[in-house]
Amino acid sequence: MKIEELLSYAKSKGFFWPSAEIYGGASGLFDYGHLGALMKRRFENLWLSYFLDQNENYHLIDGSTLLPEKPLVASGHASRFNDVLVGCTKCHSYYRADVLISEKGISVSEGAGASEMGKILKDNKIKCQKCGGELGEPKAFNMMIEVGLGPEKLDKGYLRPETAQSTYLNFFQEYNALRKTLPFGLAIIGRAYRNEISPRQGLYRMRELIQAELQIFFDPNGWKLPQEGLSGRVLNVVTYKDKKEQKISAKELSASYGIPDFYAYHMALIDRFYIDVLGVPRERFRFFEKGGEEKAFYNKVHMDLEVKVESWGGFKEVGGLHYRGDYDLTSHSKGSGKDLSVPQDGSRITPNVLELSFGVDRNIWMLLDVFYTNEGERTILKIPKPLAPYHAAVFPLQKDEKLQAMSESIRKELAKNFKIVSDSAGSIGRRYARMDDIGTPYCVTIDFDSVENSSEGYNTVTIRDRDDKSQKRVTISELQNILMKAFTPKYDSTE
Ligand SMILES: [Zn+2]
Repeated sequence: MKIEELLSYAKSKGFFWPSAEIYGGASGLFDYGHLGALMKRRFENLWLSYFLDQNENYHLIDGSTLLPEKPLVASGHASRFNDVLVGCTKCHSYYRADVLISEKGISVSEGAGASEMGKILKDNKIKCQKCGGELGEPKAFNMMIEVGLGPEKLDKGYLRPETAQSTYLNFFQEYNALRKTLPFGLAIIGRAYRNEISPRQGLYRMRELIQAELQIFFDPNGWKLPQEGLSGRVLNVVTYKDKKEQKISAKELSASYGIPDFYAYHMALIDRFYIDVLGVPRERFRFFEKGGEEKAFYNKVHMDLEVKVESWGGFKEVGGLHYRGDYDLTSHSKGSGKDLSVPQDGSRITPNVLELSFGVDRNIWMLLDVFYTNEGERTILKIPKPLAPYHAAVFPLQKDEKLQAMSESIRKELAKNFKIVSDSAGSIGRRYARMDDIGTPYCVTIDFDSVENSSEGYNTVTIRDRDDKSQKRVTISELQNILMKAFTPKYDSTE
């Protein structure tokens, strides 16, 4: 599927579209519609239950999206959260230099500065994409969005560039409010802001984005991992050393590739989330290790989580796993003057951080790309059932008073536990097709037999499955059980 096709599908059904679209839209800003908002909520809930249930000492918090200047100076964002900007001297279009360069098939490290990129642009005679004009000198451009606070707007603040900062800023309070033990984790699902030079590719590069992050604070010498069978799990990995995609077990990564045990363990955990919970085909998910100058200097190990997304032209980053050492708490200790070290085995340590970071919007786009399927005349959004916006649709077979009354009472009963839509317009076939197109896993039809049965003290209805199109007659209580079973995520927590 092409980007335009996915965008047009998403808009016509009610998943998402550009913000302020009636005014022509706004670059890098999107709104979620009624189906997108539901699907996003389902993704976030699955993510929360999967990762937070790993340890009872992992907790969800929430933080202000507007931050004062000081912590972002301490974190390095005020000085280093930069992209290299280059403008056309003729038409004044602006570009990210690294994007212009990599689109020419030339590799450029993430750490490359303005002068290095300027040289590459000149050497390869790269010109303005719009008008072919000469490009000016590239320069560093800070991506944070600055705001003036107070009546005269004299106090400088920023919209947070990442949710992670809110977890570091609340480490002290949470560590003291909780059981004062490591490891402990703080998760946030929330909005972050980046003044992207050239937002593009739908939900890929946005100016306002939603992140789901779990920061785990731990003692690198004393992290006892659960005794799970995850270390034998075989992963698709492009290592920095080998630079090609290979199948390597988590165990082997720590034995032969210098990846710490706890890091390899979390790779397997994330792999299980993508493959077993989100249902992404094995060959479409991989880890991509960044090394040398490609990774931020404070990251000891850095892997991107990548999914092959057709509309984005191949493997693209949807998240990351970062071993950040003690960089964050050390920086905020210095910046705030507050001692953020903790007692551990008779001495004091500054906890290290393992960051599990996911772009929620990117994952929603990825799921539509991966699961939108054409089967002859039919189009089906075959997303895993727990991610479907609507759990089930309820149809009266015909426009008949009795059928409609019973249909409405069943809808109300199911709606206590599930998100239900009803539809009585057009033929049953057309109604099935509409539900397939937006991924509704079950259609429940109420016919004259249903009404007759009900007079004998029990109700039966027909339930039809989106994926195998099978239909069967069930009682209302069986129906409840089928739905309950289908919407419980399937992964073995004792594996
Ligand atoms: Zn130009």
